[in-house]
Amino acid sequence: MPTIGFIGLGNMGAPMAANLVKSGERVVGFDLVPASRQAAAAAGVEIAASAKRSVADAEIVVSMLPAGEHVLSVWTDVLPAAKKGALFIDCSTIDVASARKAHALAAGRGVASLDAPVSGGVGGAKAATLTFMVGGAADAFARGKPLLERMGKRVVHCGEAGNGQAAKICNNMILGVSMIAVSEAFVLGEKLGLSHQALFDVASASSGQCWSLTSYCPVPGPVPASPANNGYKAGFAAALMLKDLNLAREAAQSVKAATALGAHAAEIYQHFAQAGHAAFDFSAIINFVRERSANR
Ligand code: NAD
Repeated sequence: MPTIGFIGLGNMGAPMAANLVKSGERVVGFDLVPASRQAAAAAGVEIAASAKRSVADAEIVVSMLPAGEHVLSVWTDVLPAAKKGALFIDCSTIDVASARKAHALAAGRGVASLDAPVSGGVGGAKAATLTFMVGGAADAFARGKPLLERMGKRVVHCGEAGNGQAAKICNNMILGVSMIAVSEAFVLGEKLGLSHQALFDVASASSGQCWSLTSYCPVPGPVPASPANNGYKAGFAAALMLKDLNLAREAAQSVKAATALGAHAAEIYQHFAQAGHAAFDFSAIINFVRERSANR
């Protein structure tokens, strides 16, 4: 049976590794945090003594780490221990420049690689319904796709090295901007005496329709499963939205793209996080818009 190495067994990595075990893979994992190692072991992941050890027998290695600096340092550490012909797949959300550096590190060791960030959050990781956005060579994609399909329901090849990350931050920039736009519309509607349901019924069937409104509505009521009905418990934390908007802003600066609304959305989420709300779901931004409107 081929062995899969898995480094980073946190909120996302642990359920993803558990799904690989459920699908019959031998998974050898590592995380710096003992509690994460224990939880993954309980789900059937074999725990290695170090990150390096976790890759030694692996045909495919998956990493799911916080940021670009972690991916570069872990890959630099473990690549010398990788098997000849191994494939490395990084599923973390990181900056495009670090993703491309990670590909170059792997290539320098004769190891194939993919950047494959996800959308779908912890719920999607547990249910194996993630969407993977993948960058890298076509032959590496063909090798990695069957494994990614065991952790998700959609796997999209976005092109060359780094393009998975590019797709992820472009998508999340749309999401951050659209959530603020939908929130502003609800707050304006409240002030004009319009009920939430009336605005929802009109906009969800009109040109204002978007995912932030119809699947993740920031007011309680119209979409019963949205975090607004559950005290804005994350879901997708505002801190992670801020992280992704900052990655989009950095990328836009590096290629001189004019993303005024993306940059403004990053500033709004920055203020929201600084006000102590970073752990709430990102749709709680509506409360911030409401507060700002009250102080006018
Ligand atoms: P997390 O902090 O829960 O998990 C990251 C894990 O990496 C931690 O357990 C940490 O101990 C481990 N780690 C850090 N450095 C390490 C090292 N050198 N060696 C071994 N382990 C190390 O974060 P998460 O929520 O699982 O997110 C992981 C990635 O997925 C991030 O890039 C995040 O932006 C992205 N993401 C998260 C979500 C979400 O909803 N949580 C959704 C989409 C994408």
